[in-house]
Amino acid sequence: MSQYSTFPTLFDIATQEIISTPERSTLIETLELMNRYNLHNVVVDTGDPKRWGLFSSAQIIRAIHTGAVTLEQRIVDCGYPPLICLQAEESIIEIFPGLLQSEEYYGVIDEDGTLVGIASYTDIVNSIDPSVIIETRNIGQLLEKRAVVTLEKDAPVGDALLNLETVDDCVIVVENDLPIGILTSKDALKWIRPGWDDQQAVEHCMSQPLVTLKKDATIKETIIFMNSHSFKRVVVTHNDRLVGVISQKEISGYAFNHWAEVIRSHANELQELVKVLEQKAARLELASNTDVLTELGNRRYLNERLEAEIGRYYRYKSSSFCFALIDLDHFKQINDHHGHLVGDQVLKEIAALLKKCIRETDSVARWGGEEFAILFPMTELQEVEVLTNRIRLRIAQLHPHGIAVSASFGIGQYREGEAMSDLLQKCDQRLYQAKAAGRNCVVGG
Ligand code: GH3
Ligand code: MG
Ligand code: MG
Repeated sequence: MSQYSTFPTLFDIATQEIISTPERSTLIETLELMNRYNLHNVVVDTGDPKRWGLFSSAQIIRAIHTGAVTLEQRIVDCGYPPLICLQAEESIIEIFPGLLQSEEYYGVIDEDGTLVGIASYTDIVNSIDPSVIIETRNIGQLLEKRAVVTLEKDAPVGDALLNLETVDDCVIVVENDLPIGILTSKDALKWIRPGWDDQQAVEHCMSQPLVTLKKDATIKETIIFMNSHSFKRVVVTHNDRLVGVISQKEISGYAFNHWAEVIRSHANELQELVKVLEQKAARLELASNTDVLTELGNRRYLNERLEAEIGRYYRYKSSSFCFALIDLDHFKQINDHHGHLVGDQVLKEIAALLKKCIRETDSVARWGGEEFAILFPMTELQEVEVLTNRIRLRIAQLHPHGIAVSASFGIGQYREGEAMSDLLQKCDQRLYQAKAAGRNCVVGG
């Protein structure tokens, strides 16, 4: 029995029907099994009753798409990760915080280590009661920091597959900017067969019609919508235009935070639980300040740093600070010539370079799209002009993926009486001037 009797144990929610495949079966046999049972992942029977594996559709797609394997190959030859197992008597509340960054499926084992069930992330999330979740926040507000990959309907499906590996397992297919379909790895599994054509248009492989949710739907409505459609993610629109995609994982993380608040206001006897939830909240807080692609801080992070810096300025009045807006030049052309995925890699490499270039006291963030920003505390504008010109040269010398990349800079110093928006506007105007002056330069007043 769990110490938290309020919450179900893993055993309570696990399915005891385990569909497994011997590790000697071929990929094509495994695909057929997965399609037959409508599975996303299948348990691999290693022959050892204490050791199980998990073979996922994403893995099959990746292996086939890269040409690493053929459909006739046995899964034991492809390699597969172990099935991560959790104790059946663990309560949901104990295990939930560890699940977010982790697996889609977990093995549920009894005290002897025998596999007694399978619990999917969805099973666990569904055991959370949505009635405690506030109904005022809407889904649109949660989507601010989510990136979505879109593809035109006539793009080759091979492009979609590459995206499936890197981004949250879905690609939205658009026509004239309007979302018309979705492609997930589950869709991809349906048509991967010997001799399949990865150049065919993605519109032939996607799922449609696209069931979408309006961005003013509440969190609770969204969870109910996802559960009733058995969706792992939902496409959110506003006036038929794509706003974003949100996954069940993200939304349940959000729901959990609010659940934490409700419970905190209740009882002392639940202090133990609160501790677990607070750790979880701290992790989410960290995640919400971080840009997923580049792993730099995001705009929210740097805004907070800026606010703190302005506060410090008035408290100590010792020295001013500077801010730089950086915008990569002609980045659209880089995407157009080399593809969005290479574009993403370029952004990552530029981000890594920026991190290396700044001083310990400076803060760098991904400001948005192909824009970055740096906060230089206790620094005068002339000094920042030198520093940013050095960074500018390093960017121009970097040649990520052999591509010539340059950046334009708008820099400014905080002056007494200015609001944060004044400083940002100043930098923005100068960035605009740097672009107008031919790019790959720093404008500082
Ligand atoms: P300019 O020199 O005037 O800044 O030209 P630009 O092409 O960089 O500017 P524009 O604002 O026209 O285009 C920005 C491009 O950056 C378009 C957009 O697709 C791309 N971009 C924004 N975010 C990302 C991203 O996360 N990944 C990739 N690959 N491209 C991105
Ligand atoms: Mg830009
Ligand atoms: Mg640009």
